[in-house]
Amino acid sequence: MRRLPLQLFTAALMLGAAAAHAAQPQTIRVDYTHSGNALSDQYAIERVVVEPLPWPGHPAKNLDDTNRGQNRVEVVDAKTGDLLYSRGFSTIFGEWSTTEEAGKISRSFQESVRFPKPDRPVRVRILERDERNEFSVAWSIEVDADAQDVVKSQPPAPARPVPIQVSGPSPGKVDLLILGDGYTQAEMKKFEADARRLSQHLFSVSPFRERAKDFNVWAMAVPTAKSGITRPSTGVHNPSALGTRYDIFGSERYVLTLDNRALRDIAQHAPYEFIEILVNNDTYGGGGIFGQFSTAAAGNAWADYLFVHEFGHHFAGLADEYYTSPVAYQAASGRKEPWEPNATALRDPAKLKWKRHVKEGTPLPTPWPKAEYEETSRAYQKRRAALRAAGRPESEMNALFREDLERTNALLAKHPHRHAVGAFEGANYEASGYYRPAMQCLMFDRSEKFCPVCQDGISEIIDLYAGPAGR
Ligand SMILES: [Zn+2]
Repeated sequence: MRRLPLQLFTAALMLGAAAAHAAQPQTIRVDYTHSGNALSDQYAIERVVVEPLPWPGHPAKNLDDTNRGQNRVEVVDAKTGDLLYSRGFSTIFGEWSTTEEAGKISRSFQESVRFPKPDRPVRVRILERDERNEFSVAWSIEVDADAQDVVKSQPPAPARPVPIQVSGPSPGKVDLLILGDGYTQAEMKKFEADARRLSQHLFSVSPFRERAKDFNVWAMAVPTAKSGITRPSTGVHNPSALGTRYDIFGSERYVLTLDNRALRDIAQHAPYEFIEILVNNDTYGGGGIFGQFSTAAAGNAWADYLFVHEFGHHFAGLADEYYTSPVAYQAASGRKEPWEPNATALRDPAKLKWKRHVKEGTPLPTPWPKAEYEETSRAYQKRRAALRAAGRPESEMNALFREDLERTNALLAKHPHRHAVGAFEGANYEASGYYRPAMQCLMFDRSEKFCPVCQDGISEIIDLYAGPAGR
């Protein structure tokens, strides 16, 4: 009989786990609904949950001083009002509220905020930016994590997290969870290979490359019955536990899940601060929302680019620097200064937020072959729309993207400001009134590098989760 050693082994594992958890507080999650339309919004509590895994965050980094996001969560001592935890984030509701549909109907979305378990009753406040981009409290609720109606125990994990890269204990690392959707049981090895390949690519791009040791990466997928995710515009409907789908808000390449409860219930079984969902599809597509999650089509020829670009939105709140592709959002009236670190309305060039990157003598705004770029870009967008409308094979789309990148590279290659940081007009889905830091960047077109301003924006967030570099 070998029962005793096995029992001892199990006991030792449990003791080890308990010891590792002792230093980390539990993770509290508040699930709530956020509903409304283009003009107004409201919040309502759903439930408070103690997640199965301890808080993965850095104990000295409870307060967020990066001023990113359309929203901000603040956890304050219910009695004294002392700020215990804060984080910036954006929401799917926030994006939807700028679509045409939000002018006609109201809709409800589930959202969550997570924070380390406080040792006293707290008030959780959700803040929104106002017209001047200042935060003000939109909703506030008292939370006692020890109250009777708090969900303290959860069903078993529907899948097991696989370690892709483990650099050290979670509190001192950025914890990235790669989730899979649209992978069948027979495709689990493929999912793991996709997660390894794309994670490796992420850590070949600066500044992730230099900071790779500051990251832990886990991969987890709940198998689906069919291969690939739902793509309603082509009549494909594949149900999945995560609910990720194409055609979000009527945009054929926009991939998200609108089922936040499902996402959180799965993700909570791995240590995570950031989530990228790989969808098992070849069709070009992705999405990324600051502080929520990002998505990328793992089977697409441009998967490397999609993975990093969308992660840029999700991880660091980077703005899209492009402006010639059709998007789901309607133009905002007026040009207020964006909170995103890599786009500006350039109201006062002397106060440009990335001024320290601009060499003396660089004109602001900075000239570039804008008219020529837009002319060829219009022709390219037409061909792209025609390929999709005709349902042509993905290989033709991939070839068009390659041609487009080569065309842009050739057009911009000889320009004197090719490598300059300045303020180049055209960004944030607008041809005029918004400016980007460099002519090309991973947030502008399918080029391979982030511009210096985006690199800085990413490094700041790595510092917020892992502590500063070189410790
Ligand atoms: Zn950039």
